[in-house]
Parts: sequence; C-alpha cells; structure tokens
Amino acid sequence: MENKPESTATNNFIKTIIREDLKNNKNNGRVHTRFPPEPNGYLHIGHAKSICLNFGLAQEFNGITNLRFDDTNPTKEEVEYVDSIIEDVKWLGFDWDDRLFYASDYFDALYDYAVDLIKKGLAFVCEQTPEEIRLCRGTLTEPGTPSPYRNRSIEENLDLFERMKNGEFEDGSKTLRAKIDMSSPNINMRDPVVYRIKKAHHHRTGDKWCIYPMYDFTHGLSDMLEGITHSICTLEFEDHRPLYDWYLDVLETPCHPQQIEFARLNITYTVLSKRKLLQLVQEGHVSGWDDPRMPTISGFRRRGYTPSAIRDFAEKIGVTKAESIVEFSFLEYCIREDLNKTAIRRMAVINPLKVTIENYPEDMKDDYLEAVNNPEDASSGTHQIRFSKVIYIEKDDFMENPPKKYFRLYPGSEVRLRYAYFITCKEVIKDENGEVIELICTYDPASRGGNSPDGRKVQGTIHWVSAEFGKQAEVRLYDNLFLEEDPNKVPDGKTFLDNLNPNSLKVVTALVEPDLIDAKPGEHYQFERVGYFVADYKESRLGKPVFNRTVGLRDTWSKLMKK
Ligand code: ATP
Ligand code: MG
Repeated sequence: MENKPESTATNNFIKTIIREDLKNNKNNGRVHTRFPPEPNGYLHIGHAKSICLNFGLAQEFNGITNLRFDDTNPTKEEVEYVDSIIEDVKWLGFDWDDRLFYASDYFDALYDYAVDLIKKGLAFVCEQTPEEIRLCRGTLTEPGTPSPYRNRSIEENLDLFERMKNGEFEDGSKTLRAKIDMSSPNINMRDPVVYRIKKAHHHRTGDKWCIYPMYDFTHGLSDMLEGITHSICTLEFEDHRPLYDWYLDVLETPCHPQQIEFARLNITYTVLSKRKLLQLVQEGHVSGWDDPRMPTISGFRRRGYTPSAIRDFAEKIGVTKAESIVEFSFLEYCIREDLNKTAIRRMAVINPLKVTIENYPEDMKDDYLEAVNNPEDASSGTHQIRFSKVIYIEKDDFMENPPKKYFRLYPGSEVRLRYAYFITCKEVIKDENGEVIELICTYDPASRGGNSPDGRKVQGTIHWVSAEFGKQAEVRLYDNLFLEEDPNKVPDGKTFLDNLNPNSLKVVTALVEPDLIDAKPGEHYQFERVGYFVADYKESRLGKPVFNRTVGLRDTWSKLMKK
C-alpha cells in the first residue's frame, strides 16, 4: 500500500505523451479530451480524479474537454443521474462550453458504421445465446471456438441486422459480432459483440431503438466523432485498447484518438463502486447519494468539502499506471489546508458542561470581548462576544482526576477562557449518579481579553459559550462510513455491509455563538478547537441551523508522514 501521494504533481506520464505529440504536431497541435460518465449513479471522488485530469490537461495544453454521457445501456440510466453529474462537474469548477454530448446522439452513425463492418466482411449476425458465446470464448490458455454463424454471406448479415433493428427478433436471440480472431491471445478480440437486442425504453431515444451498441464499439467511435485526441481511461481498459484501435483502423475513420490508461483512485475506509454505492442508498444505510458520509461529490459537498480542496487533492495524488490506495486522512489534510485559510472562526460547545463564575457580578452589563474572525486572514476582522456569569465549556475540558500534563480544567487549576478571562475551578457539583454537572469557578477581572495580568502563566486555553447569549444548534458529527481500511475485505459469508461503522453519524445539540443561528446554508466555519463545520445546505435554516462536521482539527496525515 502506498501512503505517500506524489509530492510534486506538476508532471505525469500523460503530460509527457501530450508534450511529445505537440512537438510532433500530431493532431495538428490540438489537445481535446473528454469525460465520459455512464449516468447510472452519482459521481464519486474517483470520478473527480478523472474529471480533474481530463479538464486539467486541456487547460494546461490550451485544449478543450467534452462532457459525454456514455448512455448506451438503456435499462440502468436515469435523468436524475444526468442532472447530478452536470451539477457536480460544474461545481468542481470545470466548463465544457457547448460541448455536452450523449453517446446516444451517435446511434444513427454507429448503426451505419456497423453496416460498414458487415459490408467489409468484418461482422456477422450470430444466433448463439449469451451463454453459448461465453462458453465458446475459450480461456487465457485455450483459443475460442468460432461461431457456426461466422461465415454467413454479407447479404444475409445485412438483412438480418436490419431486421434486428426493426424489432423482428427477441432480446438475446441474436447479436452482431465483429469477425476478428477467435484464437487471439486477447479475449476481447475473440469476435466481440457489437450490437445486442434490448427492447427497452431509452431516456433520450425513447423506443426508437431495440438494438444497442456495446461499450467498446461505441466508445472509440464516439471519441472519433468528437475529434478527441487523447482518450484517457482507467487501467481496466488496457486490454480493450486493441479493440478500440481495431474498430477505428478497419473503419478507416478520419481520425484516430489515442487511448491512454491510468490507475484508478482507491481510498481507505471507502468503497468507490457505483454498484455498492447504489446498494448503500437503496437499502437505506445512508440518507441518499448526497449523504455527507458518501464518497460522492455531492456527499463531499454537503459535508463541507470545497471544489478547490478536491482539485488540490487530485493534483497532489498524481497520475500513475500503478494501482495504489490513498489514505482518507490525506483527503482530510487537503480540506483542512483549504478551510484553515478561509473559514470564519467561532466558538461552539459540542458536549456542554455548565460553569458558574461565582465572583462575576450579577448585574454586569455589556461585557463584550473582541475575537478575531480568522487569524489566517487579517482582512476578515473581529467580532464581539458577550460574556456572562454562567457559561458552558466542553465536558472534555474538565477532569476531576487529571493525569500528569493535563493542562485544562481540574479542581484548583486555572485556565484561560479564549478571548475572555482566566478562571479557576473551585468546586465540582455532581448529580445523584456521581456525574459532574456543574463547576463553580472564580474569574480574575484583571485577565480580561485573556491577557495575563501579572505575568502569571496558565497552561491551557479552552473555548466556551455564554449560557445567556449562546444559541442551540443541531450538529452532525460524521465519521468514516466503514470500520475497515479496506471495506471489501470480509470473511466468507460476510459482505462489505458488515464493515459499516454503526457510529458514523452522531447528532448532538451544541451551544454556539449567537450569530451562528443565522449561518447561511453552505457557509464554512471553524469551531475553535473542535473542527471545521458547514451549515448543511439542504436542511439548515436561518434561525434553525444544522451543522455538518467536515473534518476534525487533528491532523493524522502529517503525523503519518513523520512516522
Ligand atoms: P462502474 O463503477 O459502474 O464500473 P465507473 O466507475 O467506471 O463505473 P463511469 O461512469 O464509466 O463509471 O466512469 C466515468 C469515468 O471515470 C471513466 O473514464 C472512468 O475510467 C473514470 N473513473 C471511474 N472510477 C474511477 C476511479 N476510482 N478513479 C479514477 N477514475 C475513475
Ligand atoms: Mg465504466
């Protein structure tokens, strides 16, 4: 397993290929890429890698990128997915201008190319069942057995293919197959299916077609029709490249895009298979495709990830031909880096413990303290926080019997309340179960603003929220969706669902600074000492905010790197 993404991602093997092509004036110096999602699910972070790569290369080399829906499978595709994909690619910051295409736009052209194949004697209508085709395909060590229908005349093939198109035959009863080489060492070249019969409604072409072209045939020709120069895909298509090239070669197409494969993204504690993500949604393990625990782009968006953090992540992990697994903590590192620069700081207490300051005057008026909005951004200014006699601190920031080097609050200790005063813990109040429910403290008025009045040192600074002026807010604390680094690693009889983390979502009512009550959906905050949060853009309302934890403050990634 690889922990370290490439530190300098400024170069990669695909850029090297493109530079060489440009030097040789291949494609007349054009660079034209595409992102070709199948609209059978929402996009995930792996797709983001591919999007950033395709659009990024075009940007770098003065080229352009198409968005093309690979919608050749009528039964699995839905308009909801098309819409979500468009939204996600835009949100990531990329633009295809007017070049939004659908493979289904090319069904007529593809049909004509299939007829061409037949006319060249390079395709035939086969009546083997899918099962027979599979059985006759051979193995890696044994050649396949040619179909008994392989040597039909061109006329007969043309007639049968047209009748396939006209709906005369049942699903699965016939296919059009390329006539290549049943003993090719590459199984993909053993007379692959070009068209199959599927009497299904298509989201764009309706009931016009009852035969649909297969991926390998469609993809290369679609690339060619769009004038794509570099067709970038993931490694599992490496063995399909000879077929990609074969179609373009035998059809003598006017241009011939170059297919280049790279290793797909894998991330720890995450599944990136659309089938599995769909299962999580359909079985209700998550609230939807955009559940903030989902590795989908829409899930990350709701979780509070920013497009720039995801682009930065994609850039930093680099592009290689070697499979690897990236640490989820590295993605967290990228979002922290981004939000650290931009997120407004506020105080929020997630797990409140009441503190009464006994010597603080009952009738104190307008005790406003100044707090910086973002120490990383001087232009963000300051805001006022009002202090009161009763405040809340984090339960974790108090220990009755602290270990050595515990610098927060314990009986007798003095700490600094962020932006406010030094307080000293005088008394601990417990309920009948022995649980600490309140602390009685004193404060030092001379420490106002958090400054030491006499050079006296306090070791700890903790955050707080006024009981009188603070507000309540729903906070959703998210954790990894899976407990295992590789969720797919399961003993016999178990599935990846057995690795689901039962504590991946904890909902609490937190106390927050009063202005957070009007946080706008989508606004990012750092809750000081706690983490980065975003006002949920779906369920947060002005006056009734809901905050999603984007990421905690603790950086496990840098620690990993120091090991
Ligand atoms: P499935 O999970 O159904 O096999 P897919 O993830 O390949 O589908 P597509 O919609 O076909 O989904 O993918 C669109 C593009 O995104 C393809 O070019 C594909 O290679 C790329 N892609 C998909 N998953 C990843 C990944 N994990 N890392 C990088 N690129 C990916
Ligand atoms: Mg795919």
